[in-house]
Amino acid sequence: MTNWRNELQRFLILLGTAAVIGLIIGEISFTLVVALAGYSSYNLLQLRRLTKWVAKDSHKSDTQPPEGTGIWGSIFDSIYRLQKQERLASDYLKNILDKAQESSAALEMAVVMINKQGTLDWWNRATEELLGIRYPNDRNQAVTNLIRDPRFADYFHKEKYSQTLRIEAPGVSGRTLEFQITLFGEHEKLMLVRDVTQLHRLESMRRDFVGNVSHELGTPITVIKGYLETIADNLDSFDSRWHKPIEQMRSQSQRMENIVRDLLVLSAIETRAVPRAQEKVDLGELAREIEAHTEEVMQEKHHRFLVDCPNEIILLGQRSELYSALSNLVINAAKYTPPKGCIQLRAALDPKGVTIAVEDNGLGIESHHIPRLTERFYRVDPSRSAESGGTGLGLAIVKHILARHDSELAVESTPTKGSIFSFHIPKERVLS
Ligand code: ADP
Repeated sequence: MTNWRNELQRFLILLGTAAVIGLIIGEISFTLVVALAGYSSYNLLQLRRLTKWVAKDSHKSDTQPPEGTGIWGSIFDSIYRLQKQERLASDYLKNILDKAQESSAALEMAVVMINKQGTLDWWNRATEELLGIRYPNDRNQAVTNLIRDPRFADYFHKEKYSQTLRIEAPGVSGRTLEFQITLFGEHEKLMLVRDVTQLHRLESMRRDFVGNVSHELGTPITVIKGYLETIADNLDSFDSRWHKPIEQMRSQSQRMENIVRDLLVLSAIETRAVPRAQEKVDLGELAREIEAHTEEVMQEKHHRFLVDCPNEIILLGQRSELYSALSNLVINAAKYTPPKGCIQLRAALDPKGVTIAVEDNGLGIESHHIPRLTERFYRVDPSRSAESGGTGLGLAIVKHILARHDSELAVESTPTKGSIFSFHIPKERVLS
């Protein structure tokens, strides 16, 4: 503002001086025109210097501004200062961008940016190796055209990315890739892909080992248990000292048989791929079947068992697996509820699917145990679980089955009051 005022002052002094000289020599118009022409030429000259300086890419290189006096000097200086700030900011951004690119190029994991149309925007070097995507040919290609596995298309379009997807690498047999997608910006997606071949191999070795061991143990345990049962039926022919050990051997062999059976179930669920063809499962009928099969257990402990399930809910899934998950929850509720308890099996439709819950008014579980309940062999109270014939594998089986039905187990519990084990089946799997 001061500069502007100074410049105005200078202009007025120039005009005043020209007017005075004009008056003295009697040619006021002439001196005024000369003064104005001189002033305009000076300004034009400064403008020319400015354009020349700007045209020299001064914003990219650090060229000094032209020397100028008055308002022009401050205009040159301000532009120079702004350019310097802009240059610093852009150098900083470029530096960050270079670092981001260098670090993503160094990653062994593929990083792919997908725009809201589902086509590829950008990817790092590892992507070319893992997915065979090439620059620039594959830019703007739909990701589902480049990764043609139908399971990937399902995962990509469902937009439920809380879980990862494992499939074989496109065009390379024996290589397993794990995909994880995250949404960002305006419906854009960041896809991370890593090679999990080694991990996958180790996991399948572990699964095979558990499966084989359980299978191999099956026959000897059946034989031992068979003999022990025969011996237990003829206890009278044995010395009374042997009665207790024989009974213990019989009950432990039964426990071993249960563990082997559950391990085999677990390893079968883990090894079998989720079938693409789903069965239509009538939930009401399944609940009635569970009611009939658990009648004996409920009567033994004098429990009331209430089933509240709307008719005509059809689930898409595997019937035997859903039966196993639900009956595990119902049997647990019966086991961990003192006699004369009340067990409820409920199903309720909502706009997002159906919630199925098993509630009891039994022992309940302290909150710090809840996150670990679905771990294999985790028991809240090992002695009580063993007493009730528990293997510690039931909830692990339930967890796996539910994951295969796009669902998760939720547990609410209050010690001494009871527990609710529930899960939600998404609407894509519900016909009603
Ligand atoms: P288990 O064969 O021992 O019952 P599970 O995997 O089915 O194994 O359950 C794990 C543990 O969770 C059990 O040992 C038990 O302590 C606890 N649990 C499961 N269901 C209930 C329930 N309804 N009420 C109280 N505790 C439960």
